[in-house]
Amino acid sequence: VSNPAYLSMDGELVPYADARVHVLAPAITYGATVFEGIRGYWSEHYDDCLLFRLDEHLERLAFSMKVMRFSTDLEPKRIKQWVRRLVAANGQRDAVHIRVLAYVSEGPNMHTVAPISLAIASLSRPGRTADMAGIRACISSWRRISDDAMPPRVKCASNYQNGRLASLQAKHDGYDTPILLSGDGHVAEAPGSCLFLLRDGHLVTPSPSSDVLESITRDTIMELAEKRMGLRVEQRSVDRSELYLATEMFLCGTASEIVPIASLDGYTVGDGGIGPVTRSLAAAYAGVVRGEPGHAAWYTPVYRDTLGSRA
Ligand code: PMP
Repeated sequence: VSNPAYLSMDGELVPYADARVHVLAPAITYGATVFEGIRGYWSEHYDDCLLFRLDEHLERLAFSMKVMRFSTDLEPKRIKQWVRRLVAANGQRDAVHIRVLAYVSEGPNMHTVAPISLAIASLSRPGRTADMAGIRACISSWRRISDDAMPPRVKCASNYQNGRLASLQAKHDGYDTPILLSGDGHVAEAPGSCLFLLRDGHLVTPSPSSDVLESITRDTIMELAEKRMGLRVEQRSVDRSELYLATEMFLCGTASEIVPIASLDGYTVGDGGIGPVTRSLAAAYAGVVRGEPGHAAWYTPVYRDTLGSRA
């Protein structure tokens, strides 16, 4: 897929090749960046590109900036307009993956809290839900960063070095993805996605105080599972050995969507195929993000000011 024509920097449209940051920015030296990954999907029903749960992503970005003490008057409302303007300027009428990055763009040292810059990129990227092959996961020997040191609830770029160490180790050892345990030995999450398992017919996912990101996809899945499929969903502390008992298991996140896990540490999950609950949830999710009627509050249209339908 080719690069888009524009990125957005501090609200200005900038040609892709010209979107630059100074090498001494605290964003680079100290990882003083917080960000969001957002998806938009083309909707036949609404005849528009729908940004999925953009408001929730921008609220989370505001929370990340607050915790990291970024000094800025950037507001979700303004960023939202910049995101829409960028996708429209790129003329993107397909599925997009959008990154919004807020970062300390200049400064002498690691305590610098301003100036804060805001960059947005929107890349064409098809949804991955059709590609449903299960992956091989392992429990990482690297532990998840903890809320009392580097809170995973904050989507700070530097947090991702924890997942990077775990991913590189897992790939070196022949697995597709690691799953990290928290410092106290409970299941946390994968480097860029949350985890669900099916046990005795109900879904289980680590609670928000298990050193996980408060994932928007996780929230969407819980709502679809409970309201549409009538499944019980438990958010609680999860033991490692429970994962070996699971009859189905999957990862979920904005970019990864829903990824079934075929085996963990060499133990086959269920019969090693994609289980019926995972399959139904993936189908429901794929429909909802593409604008199935009934979830209007979750969509921000790019090309129109309000959600309209083709009919
Ligand atoms: N955990 C981590 C560490 C992540 O980076 C992501 C991706 N943002 C997720 C979970 C999934 O979060 P979301 O559903 O909000 O994309």
